[in-house]
Amino acid sequence: MNETSKIICQAQKEGRKALLETEAKAICMEYAIPVTKFKLAKTAGEAAEFADQLGYPVVLKIVSPDIIHKSDAGGVMVNLKSQAEVQDAYGKILENAKKYKATAKIAGVLVQEMAPPSTEVIVGAIKDPQFGQTLMFGLGGVFVEILKDVTFRIAPITRGDAEEMVTGIKAYPLLKGYRNTPPSDIDAIINILLCTSKLVMDYPEISELDLNPIMAYEKGAKTVDARIILE
Ligand code: ADP
Ligand code: MG
Repeated sequence: MNETSKIICQAQKEGRKALLETEAKAICMEYAIPVTKFKLAKTAGEAAEFADQLGYPVVLKIVSPDIIHKSDAGGVMVNLKSQAEVQDAYGKILENAKKYKATAKIAGVLVQEMAPPSTEVIVGAIKDPQFGQTLMFGLGGVFVEILKDVTFRIAPITRGDAEEMVTGIKAYPLLKGYRNTPPSDIDAIINILLCTSKLVMDYPEISELDLNPIMAYEKGAKTVDARIILE
């Protein structure tokens, strides 16, 4: 069995609908969707050791089946620059998680490379009761949340469809580069859309997928957070 099937089977066996970030990112990796490098730490010492291995700065995040929106729970700390900062953040994240939900099960704390800031894009998928797996594309933050500047296509999509999704948003000129915003690697974004289409077609039990945000660079792109929800 491949990694994706194993992860989904395991979650179903445990009665979990939301996959952990570690699981969602392992699935992304199997589908050639680029993600930030990460390691799951179980102690503050281990977190510091992993941070040394990954190189600074790093980001620490809570990994819990009971915490889906990690920053709402004070579960994300970015731009940590030393062993001491990492160990301190480790303790704070666990403390915040307990405050947020005393009974939350904790799988550990994820140590990951910090992706340099850039233009943020979002790739999503939702299983529509009528149309089946449907893909969404937009720019991060206010563009999606307030302006609803997004495009949709029913999966599976072709490369041409993916291209239309990217060029079809109103904010597309920003992706082409504008004043001090450098151009984004459109091909890298199109590839992520195509890989996501394949993933949700292969696994109809995925009811929601959210790659949010993806940092789009002049060369390449990197998924910083991945969420997958099962039916
Ligand atoms: P959640 O959506 O569950 O609150 P995220 O993993 O998306 O948690 O983290 C919240 C925010 O922190 C992200 O939107 C991003 O701005 C920043 N962030 C998280 N991980 C990284 C990373 N590896 N590199 C850079 N920024 C990150
Ligand atoms: Mg997120």
